[in-house]
Amino acid sequence: MLEVENIRYLVVHCTDTPDNQSLYACDIHHMHLGFGWNGIGYHRVICRDGCIQHGRPDYWEGAHVKGFNDVSLGVCLIGRDVFTDAQFEALEMVLRSWKEAYPEAEICGHRDFDYTDKTCPNFDVAQWCQKVGL
Ligand SMILES: [Zn+2]
Repeated sequence: MLEVENIRYLVVHCTDTPDNQSLYACDIHHMHLGFGWNGIGYHRVICRDGCIQHGRPDYWEGAHVKGFNDVSLGVCLIGRDVFTDAQFEALEMVLRSWKEAYPEAEICGHRDFDYTDKTCPNFDVAQWCQKVGL
């Protein structure tokens, strides 16, 4: 169980799939089941059209950021490099509501964790946060 007071990071990811490919939370669910996980590892998924879909509930520990799953929530944008305006609007909505629920938590990108060589989500989350006032 994730406890509200333990949430320290709100982590932004991307699926690293072609930008012209529409995928949904159910696709990621199947993919992660295939890894032998307990289904989708993220808490929210943002589709190319900006639709926000639910993965794991917020109280259920995710599988998205090794070593930090017990202190974080994960949101994943569908795509690789070029995200749609609708996706960024949706991301802002998700993060604003999380910040309300978990005011102490810090927003970051997957690549901001030292343990990984991944470039996910392929943009500077801190810079974007500054731009939108998050
Ligand atoms: Zn990631």
